[in-house]
Amino acid sequence: MTAATRPVRTRFAPSPTGYLHLGGARTALFSWAFARHYGGTFVLRIEDTDLERSTPEAVQAILDGMRWLDLQPDEGPFYQMQRMDRYRQVIADMLAQGTAYHCYSTPAEVEAMREHARAIGAKPRYDGTWRPEAGKTLPPIPPDVSPVVRFRCPLDGVTTWDDLVKGPISFDNSELDDLVIARPDGTPTYNFCVVVDDWDMEISHVIRGDDHVNNTPRQINILRALGAELPRYGHVPMILGPDGEKLSKRHGAVSVIEYDRLGYLPEAMVNYLARLGWSHGNDELFTRQQFVEWFDPKHLSRSAAQWDPKKLNWVNAHGLRQLDLDDLARRVAPRILRLGGQPEAIDLEAVLALLRDRSETLEDLADGCLLFCGPYTPADAELRAEVLDAAALDLLQDFSAQAHALDAWDEATLDGLVKAMLKTHGVKMPKLAIPLRVAVTGRKHTPSIGAVLALLGRDVVLQRLDMTLAG
Ligand code: GLU
Repeated sequence: MTAATRPVRTRFAPSPTGYLHLGGARTALFSWAFARHYGGTFVLRIEDTDLERSTPEAVQAILDGMRWLDLQPDEGPFYQMQRMDRYRQVIADMLAQGTAYHCYSTPAEVEAMREHARAIGAKPRYDGTWRPEAGKTLPPIPPDVSPVVRFRCPLDGVTTWDDLVKGPISFDNSELDDLVIARPDGTPTYNFCVVVDDWDMEISHVIRGDDHVNNTPRQINILRALGAELPRYGHVPMILGPDGEKLSKRHGAVSVIEYDRLGYLPEAMVNYLARLGWSHGNDELFTRQQFVEWFDPKHLSRSAAQWDPKKLNWVNAHGLRQLDLDDLARRVAPRILRLGGQPEAIDLEAVLALLRDRSETLEDLADGCLLFCGPYTPADAELRAEVLDAAALDLLQDFSAQAHALDAWDEATLDGLVKAMLKTHGVKMPKLAIPLRVAVTGRKHTPSIGAVLALLGRDVVLQRLDMTLAG
């Protein structure tokens, strides 16, 4: 089957050594979008052969992060540790075919070879002592050395691929060592497992971070030796922090799931991550459906992307405004509860409608809602002294009397009352609005006073006003 007609199958292949970080999430997103755009299959493979660094918690963190972003694989997760028999079988086949060989050089000997190469100004490498060649006599097998297995890499020629992101890339095969594909205890090495998996899983397009560019010629050569069809490769540049350095904890949260805790929407995260290294004209805000529709690897950027927390906040704020209020309420309610408020005690959708234009995250919103359903802390003595002077108390007295007499209790009626009072008392808005805020909410700053009074409800407002006036 030619590359043009090959079914599209992409994969995300994280090593479970920590949380799902932003760079990994973006790689997953691009692989996922590629598969979705072409109606293909997205495979999840957990590369857990590094037993010292892989943990079940990290696997869970990756699965959680992908679930949060809604990047569900069509196949997998497959675990490399469960495929050991297959790797051993391929190694045995390669030994039988002569594309791999046993090497009995000890680590100390290999180090000495490298040292020697360095001394004569050559690239440090294994010198091929145990590499079988026509007419060559191999040394006698030492009795007490467990051999490694090395791949018999082509000695000359060039390995080239047309990278989906970076364009044509070439490596001289003379630069490549005869890679160890199995350790003395028979366990396969990293690059080898990747190759067998990409082959068996019929991966058509490998999209991954550009820290893997140097692995690609080795992997291509092994795939060729196996007679496998090559995938197309696309290497995505890394994400830099706002200061141009490699993105790290110094720049804030780097675990994708942490952004859930901080109150970001998965929809916004997908939108923001998609734009880190990919573009569709000048479009900054789009849905995931549009992203899939528009995704074209030709528009993946060759240069590193820069993390911009302000832009993420902007995208998230936009996302908050796009959601239906009932959906938004469902997402904010548990956060209010965690902050000690009682979301069920208020008309949450109405409160969110008031607050969402001024909020950047779900946490901001939850915090804002506490004004209406959190524990009420009356203004402290200092704030009272600053705001509630005799004139202010007079105004509040009058406001309270008139408010008690209102028939209706809604924003328009309350705004009407405030306006009428400004007129009769001949004062400007802050003279009334600030004392009202302090009396009724304990704070100087709130959203528009009419809306706040309406949402707090008649009983609460009148009771707090009376309390304040009683001193
Ligand atoms: N497991 C590798 C990593 O987490 C990715 C390997 C690949 O995509 O080929 O960096």
